[in-house]
Amino acid sequence: MKRTVIVNAHVISPDLNLPGATVVIERGRIKSVEARRAKAVKPDRDTTVVDVKGQYLMPGFIDVHTHGALTCDFCDADPKAVFEVAKAKLQEGVTTFLPTTLTVSHADLVRAAKNAKAYVEAGSPYAKIPGIHLEGPFINVKCCGAQNPKFVRKPSVKELKEIMKVFPVKQISYAVETEGGAAFAKACLKLGVVPSCGHTGAKMKDLKAAYRNGLRHMTHFCNQMTPLHHREIGMVGAGFLVDDLNTEVICDRIHLCDDMLRLVFLKRDLAHVQIITDSLRCSHCKDGYAFEMGGLKVLLKNGEARLVEGGNLAGSTLWMGNGLKNVHDVTGLPLEKLVRTTSWNQAIEQGWGKKLGKVEKGYIADLVVINPRSWKPSAVFVDGEQRI
Ligand SMILES: [Zn+2]
Repeated sequence: MKRTVIVNAHVISPDLNLPGATVVIERGRIKSVEARRAKAVKPDRDTTVVDVKGQYLMPGFIDVHTHGALTCDFCDADPKAVFEVAKAKLQEGVTTFLPTTLTVSHADLVRAAKNAKAYVEAGSPYAKIPGIHLEGPFINVKCCGAQNPKFVRKPSVKELKEIMKVFPVKQISYAVETEGGAAFAKACLKLGVVPSCGHTGAKMKDLKAAYRNGLRHMTHFCNQMTPLHHREIGMVGAGFLVDDLNTEVICDRIHLCDDMLRLVFLKRDLAHVQIITDSLRCSHCKDGYAFEMGGLKVLLKNGEARLVEGGNLAGSTLWMGNGLKNVHDVTGLPLEKLVRTTSWNQAIEQGWGKKLGKVEKGYIADLVVINPRSWKPSAVFVDGEQRI
């Protein structure tokens, strides 16, 4: 039987920090993780040996919120865009992601779903796409951020179902305070979609109503939501008061200041924090790159992507691994505590927690090797196959 043996790996997995380890992969799954140097392992016809020379070996990252990279956006008409984005995400060490749509017309959302379907039908050559994330269009027009208010509409289960006829939707970011917002959470869960409160002007009472209907997720926590006030704690307050809300965090040190990152990662239950990139088409691009997003002009300057008009942050250029490094740097928390926020937490919420998100026997061999000096991925495995 064919097998891959990764030797000299510094394994970083939830609650596991194991230098000098040997990881054996068979049939796309992790067969064993052992704390020893496998000097005896020699490559032969059935055995591929990969010496990672003491670099970190982590679970492949799962990015549940990303729009684009390499000048391509998932909402682009060009069906090649999703291939380019998936290629870039793989270079970041992302093995699974939810391509994320913008607030655009229904026809454009259906087209994006068709493009995702075509990628999967082509054999998902880069990172895997189990479904998509709809960011909008059912958001609060006053909290659009860089989303185009022209396309904002009220929550519609019918519209969601029509998109799902084409390709699975795994998550939807919407404003819970909109008409029918609380009931919409229940309808989403029934369809197997994670409902998430985002681009929202909700008060605590609105969140409570959606929470009673099963909502447990917040889109880019702190960004485009009601701030904490001592007489109305808003969505930021809710994120701290309600332990089991899964809060997405853009950890680029721009969207949230370092102290806010400390507050989130040191005070919240880490089982309910998820690092996301919210990356745009300017991710993996050089400074000065200008582009349009949902009809709005955006410029990449000093690594920050902002609307030309008004200056709102439009998303990030963050790589998943750098998000983890940033949080490690500002909080001092050990990597084996933080690493669950890059994949396992996401996997648990999506129902894949027993097979994805850990470097452990029986888990799918989606793995990333990270150079501890540059924090760049030097190898990436998907279903046990080395793709980088
Ligand atoms: Zn986004």
